[in-house]
Amino acid sequence: MLFDNFGRIHDYLRISLTDNCNFRCTYCMPEEKIQCLPSSRLMQKDEILSLAKTFVDLGIKKIRLTGGEPLLRKDFGEIYAELADLPVTLTFTTNGFLLDKYAGLCKTKGLKGVNISIDTLDREKFFSITKRDHFPTVWKNIELMIQMGFDVKLNIVLMKHVNDDETEDFIALTKNLPVHVRFIEFMPFDKNGWDKTKVISFEEIMSDLYQKYDVVKLLDEKHDTAKKFQIYGHKGTFAFITTMSQPFCGDCNRLGLTADGKIKNCLFGKEEIDLLSPLRNGEDIENLIRMSVTRKHAVMGGQFVASYLETDAQSIQNRSMIKIGG
Ligand code: SAM
Ligand code: SF4
Repeated sequence: MLFDNFGRIHDYLRISLTDNCNFRCTYCMPEEKIQCLPSSRLMQKDEILSLAKTFVDLGIKKIRLTGGEPLLRKDFGEIYAELADLPVTLTFTTNGFLLDKYAGLCKTKGLKGVNISIDTLDREKFFSITKRDHFPTVWKNIELMIQMGFDVKLNIVLMKHVNDDETEDFIALTKNLPVHVRFIEFMPFDKNGWDKTKVISFEEIMSDLYQKYDVVKLLDEKHDTAKKFQIYGHKGTFAFITTMSQPFCGDCNRLGLTADGKIKNCLFGKEEIDLLSPLRNGEDIENLIRMSVTRKHAVMGGQFVASYLETDAQSIQNRSMIKIGG
C-alpha cells in the first residue's frame, strides 16, 4: 500500500500514453508549436504494462489512461486490452474523435465508463477552442457510447466569456440522456493563458441554478473530486470539479505517470522521478515509487496554497497539461 506522509492512501494512477494530440485546445497546450517526444522517449507497450503491474502490486486499484490523446497511439487497443486483464478498474479520458474505432473492444473488455471532453455544444465555438472542426464526429461518438450502454462522463473546462453561457445547455442534456456532465474549473499550467479572471467558480454557477431548478445534492463517494447534483426527474447528473475554488487535496489518492515515464505525485507538483530509465536499466522501481509518494506536498504540489484569487500563474513551475496527462 502506498501511504504519503499525511496518511493519504494512493490507489489511483493516471497513465499518459502520449504527449501528442489531434486537437489543439487553448487551455491545455501553449499557443506556439509544441515539440512532441520521439517514440523512443515514450514508454513502450511492454514498459507500460510492466510499470502498471508494479503499481498494482503496490496497491493501485484504478488506472486511467490519458494524454495528450490516448487513442492516437497506434497500439492503444493492445495496451488497453493487456491492462484490462490486470485486477484494476481501467478507464480512460479522451477527446472522443477516434472512439468509434475502439468502442467494440472496450465492450468486449468490460469497460464500464469513459470520460469524454467536450467544452461546448456549438460547432463554431468548438473549432475556436480546439482548432479542429470535429464537433459532429465527437458528438456522434458520444451518442454511440451512450447507445452501447457505457457510463459516459462529459468533461467541460469552464472559462469565463468562452463557454460559461452554456452551463444550462449542458445541464439540459441530462434531462433525457443518462450522461454525467462535469464542469471543471480552469487550472493553471505552463503557458495556457490562465489567470484568475477566467475562472468561473462552482459557487457562482450553483447559486444561479438553485434559483432556477429543483436541484438535488447527490452523495459524493470517497476520494471523489466531483461535487455531484441532479435536477429532480432528470436521467443524468451534473457535477463540479472545484480544484481551484475548493481544492480536494485532503483526500487525494492520485498519482500520475507521464508519457516519458516520470512519476508525478501531484498534477501541480514540479518534482518528478524518472521510472523509465531505471526500468530500462533493470533497476528497482518500487522504492522510487514509494519515494515519490512520501515526498508529496500537502496541498497543490506545494506551489500554491492560498486562494486561487492570489495565485500568480507565472510563478508556477510545471509542464503544460498536454505533457502531464490529466
Ligand atoms: N485528450 C484527452 C481529453 O481531452 O480528454 C485526455 C487528455 S486531457 C489533458 C484530460 C483532461 O484534462 C480533459 O478533460 C481536459 O479538458 C482537461 N484539461 C486540460 N487542460 C485543463 C486545464 N487547464 N484546466 C482544467 N482541465 C484541463
Ligand atoms: Fe488534446 Fe485533450 Fe489537451 Fe484538448 S484537452 S489538446 S484534446 S490533450
